Amino acid sequence: EKFKTGLEKTRDSFVGKMNELVARYRKVDEDFFEELEELLISSDVGVATVMELIDNLKDEVRLRNIKDTSEIQPVISEKLAELLQKDEEDASLNIQEGAMTVILFVGVNGVGKTTTIGKMAHMFKEEGKSVLLAAGDTFRAGAIEQLEVWGERVGVDVIKQQAGSDPAAVMFDAVQAAKSRNADVLLCDTAGRLQNKVNLMKELEKVKRVIEREVPNAPHEVLLVLDATTGQNAMSQAKQFSETTDVSGIVLTKLDGTAKGGIVLAIRHELDIPVKYVGLGEKMDDLQPFNAEQFVYGLFK
Ligand code: GDP
Repeated sequence: EKFKTGLEKTRDSFVGKMNELVARYRKVDEDFFEELEELLISSDVGVATVMELIDNLKDEVRLRNIKDTSEIQPVISEKLAELLQKDEEDASLNIQEGAMTVILFVGVNGVGKTTTIGKMAHMFKEEGKSVLLAAGDTFRAGAIEQLEVWGERVGVDVIKQQAGSDPAAVMFDAVQAAKSRNADVLLCDTAGRLQNKVNLMKELEKVKRVIEREVPNAPHEVLLVLDATTGQNAMSQAKQFSETTDVSGIVLTKLDGTAKGGIVLAIRHELDIPVKYVGLGEKMDDLQPFNAEQFVYGLFK
């Protein structure tokens, strides 16, 4: 259900164009595939992914002896799902049962990092876990207050220091607080300015070192938050972050606000990082674990 409503814009755009293509061509031929290729690329599916998808489609069409374009849509959804499922194995979060789980959130400003932390805090609370938030973005004006708003909304405490203080010191405090309160999950915000990439990456490494030192095998997840509405820009952010820090998963936000939901396929297929969660709205329960089958179902309804 969530995927169905959340993917409305992508579906309307993609399926609308798809139907138009099918109506115009009737016959499955080389020209049809060429236009389908263009359509997929314009939906931000990503060139390499589109190429593989089209190859798979052509094989299947030959195999099943499909001649009419009206028969092709189920084959497309099948092949899309196959492509997504291939990469899906490690989509779940690395949760430490019976011990503290530390999750670090990285990503540039405005992508929905704070919102995602709030939503995830809510999710863990619903599962009966105790949650703490660490206000590690001490740089952006208002970041701490915004996290506190989410903390209040969801009913979890935020460990913070003054704006401008050392994020590594905030993390140290937060880890100590989480230990003494026996928290199940510690969700850590970080600064997201990419203008000064070298400093940002140094800061991230320092924050990570503090966490590594204080909690065994932590951080258990480093989640990169990306904004789906930025399309290929999200891809390049993913590449930049993964070059400098170990990203264990992606949260793709604002899928509800874009017609370019195809970006999920590009990210999953072209980067070696699983999309673990997707944001499908601004409310606290608008966060969904990524599921290939549901995604493709939501895409075609
Ligand atoms: P941050 O700077 O990365 O912490 O970004 P914020 O969490 O402040 O989010 C920026 C804006 O995006 C806010 O207006 C959020 O409400 C909005 N936002 C975040 N996630 C989603 C989502 O999944 N869907 C929609 N429609 N809006 C979102």
